[in-house]
Amino acid sequence: MARRRQLYEGKAKILFEGPEPGTLVQYFKDDATAFNSQKKGTITGKGVLNNRISEYFMLRLGEIGVPTHFIRRLNMREQLIREVEIIPLEVVVRNVAAGSLATRLGIQEGTRLPRSIIEYYYKNDALQDPMVSEEHITAFGWAGTADIDDIVQLTLRVNDFLTGLLLGVGITLVDFKLEFGRLYENDEMRIVLADEISPDNCRLWDSKTGEKMDKDRFRRDLGRVEEGYQEVARRLGILPEAGVRDLKGPETVQ
Ligand code: UDP
Repeated sequence: MARRRQLYEGKAKILFEGPEPGTLVQYFKDDATAFNSQKKGTITGKGVLNNRISEYFMLRLGEIGVPTHFIRRLNMREQLIREVEIIPLEVVVRNVAAGSLATRLGIQEGTRLPRSIIEYYYKNDALQDPMVSEEHITAFGWAGTADIDDIVQLTLRVNDFLTGLLLGVGITLVDFKLEFGRLYENDEMRIVLADEISPDNCRLWDSKTGEKMDKDRFRRDLGRVEEGYQEVARRLGILPEAGVRDLKGPETVQ
């Protein structure tokens, strides 16, 4: 197998140089972290499931005209993506009160919000991703007002689309986190959806029972973490045929 140059290793993914200029290979690990990396663990098969689930969401979003960095899935754990300049923001959308919003504002977890709320966090591990406002974003030059307009429009479309898609399979989309990047093509810049959309960065509750099917199972030691992720894939009709027990999957050959 050709050795590829590793460009970056994050908490849940590794980025390698892609086969062509302007492309990268995104590798999904089983590693999980929570509470700003104070809690660390492994969720067996998570990388395989997140690769599939994120591929599925990115493809469906692409079909409705949401630009994404996704090109194609390469194998069980890897996908080919476009290289983008990541905007250093975590864009969180909330439909139902949970997690830090419930804690900070003293709202009972599970309370439906009067409307969807978008929050921004500055992506900086050392500072533990502090919450910021549009004022901070424009003042410090992380994104301009036109960029923020694009981000808000895309985020709301993603939220509406995924809310409906998931509701169709009996899952409530409580909240989730998106990341965006700048893609430069023919002297033009476009903002595109980047990173991943998976149970690692969404809160997904069974619409009937309220059972959690996302990373909160890991964060809150609820057990059956892998099963939660697997159930999301199963309902979406994309559970890998070989099963998640086929952990390593084929290696990419270039
Ligand atoms: N989230 C994320 N990465 C982060 C912080 C949050 O993917 O670094 C996601 C999280 O999974 C949830 C949503 O963003 O779906 C809102 O998270 P919250 O602010 O409630 O923080 P948490 O309770 O996860 O600390």
